[in-house]
Order: sequence, then C-alpha cells, then structure tokens
Amino acid sequence: MLRYLTVPVTAFQQNCSIVWCDETLAAAVIDPGGDLPRIQAEVARLGVKLEQIWLTHAHIDHAGGTGTLARELGLPIVGPHEGDQFWIDGLDQQSRMFGFPPVEPFKPTRWLHDGDSVSIGHSTLAVRHCPGHTPGHVVFHSAEIRRCFVGDVLFAGSIGRTDFPGGDHATLIASITQRLWPMGDDTVFIPGHGPESSFGRERRSNPHVRGT
Ligand SMILES: [Zn+2]
Ligand SMILES: [Zn+2]
Repeated sequence: MLRYLTVPVTAFQQNCSIVWCDETLAAAVIDPGGDLPRIQAEVARLGVKLEQIWLTHAHIDHAGGTGTLARELGLPIVGPHEGDQFWIDGLDQQSRMFGFPPVEPFKPTRWLHDGDSVSIGHSTLAVRHCPGHTPGHVVFHSAEIRRCFVGDVLFAGSIGRTDFPGGDHATLIASITQRLWPMGDDTVFIPGHGPESSFGRERRSNPHVRGT
C-alpha cells in the first residue's frame, strides 16, 4: 500500500511529500522545492529508498531543489507537463526574485500527460493534467488510498493563483471541477501549502468552488 509523509520546505512552507510502497520501501519525492537536507533526513528516518522525483509544476518552491537532488542521487525527474518548460527555464530568475538559493538547471526525464500513470514499488498513481495555475500543472491521484497530491491547484478554503504568466482562472476552475471532483467527495487532497482537506468539504464550503 502507498504511504506518505509531508515535509513543509522553503520559506513558502511548501508541502513536499515523500511517498512510498510499504512492501518494497521504494520511494518518490513530490515537489522537492528546497531544504534538501531536511527531506533526506526524513527519507533516512523512514528507512525508504528514494528512486524518483515527481513534479506537479515548476514554480521555485516546488521544483527548486530538483536539479541538485537528481544529480546527487542519480534520480529520474518525472513531470510536470511540458507546458511548464518556460517556468523551468525561468527557475534561476524565480530564485533571485524570491531570495531562494541558486538553482541547478534540470531537464525532466519524462514529461507527463493527462491519463498517464506513475508507479513506485507496487503502487500506481494516475496523472491528471490540471492547468490554470500554470499551463503544465499535473496532479497525482492514488485511488488505492483515496488521496490526491494537487500542488497549487486547490487549497483548503482557497484555489491556486492565476495572475502569473500562463495562468487562467476559467481553466483552473475547469481543472478542479472536471478532473478533481470525479475522484470523489471522500478523496483527501494534499495541497502545495497548508492543511489537507477533502474534495467534498471544498465543494460544500470553499467560496471559490462552492456548489460546483
Ligand atoms: Zn505554484
Ligand atoms: Zn506553491
């Protein structure tokens, strides 16, 4: 079965998640935005073996540590969708703008598309393309444990910003209603920032998507 631990990283308290198969202890890290020593300490404490990096999107707080971690551990970089290439190209500029440490450039080993899947050990997660916050944003859905790692698409009580280049409000709402809601009201999501919630709770109470 899939298990996970969320580790807030960077000054933006971005929810980096370590996910692993509890039968093989093979692990992936979702959105290693920074604070790599903290992430690696948790990986060591859990006794799991990091084998892949999965990216929801290429904003600095989510992707900033990717190049260094991939080089140090020889890990493949899976995702995001190629719509975020311009954000990957702009990571160095993002790091200076937000006062982050310098970023090592990287190239994804594999771009992701809607309907793809990613696997770690004996667990497989479905990939959905959810543009709107960024054009190449993807989410990772584990039907097995009814969890979805949604990056900055949706938050408890809020939704992702759409005022960045390539952002679009109507596209984001369509991603949420057409690609997240069908996963089911009882699916718990791990947002890029802040506490977990369920899709059902957001449909009832989130002012941005209430009743959709
Ligand atoms: Zn973002
Ligand atoms: Zn973020």
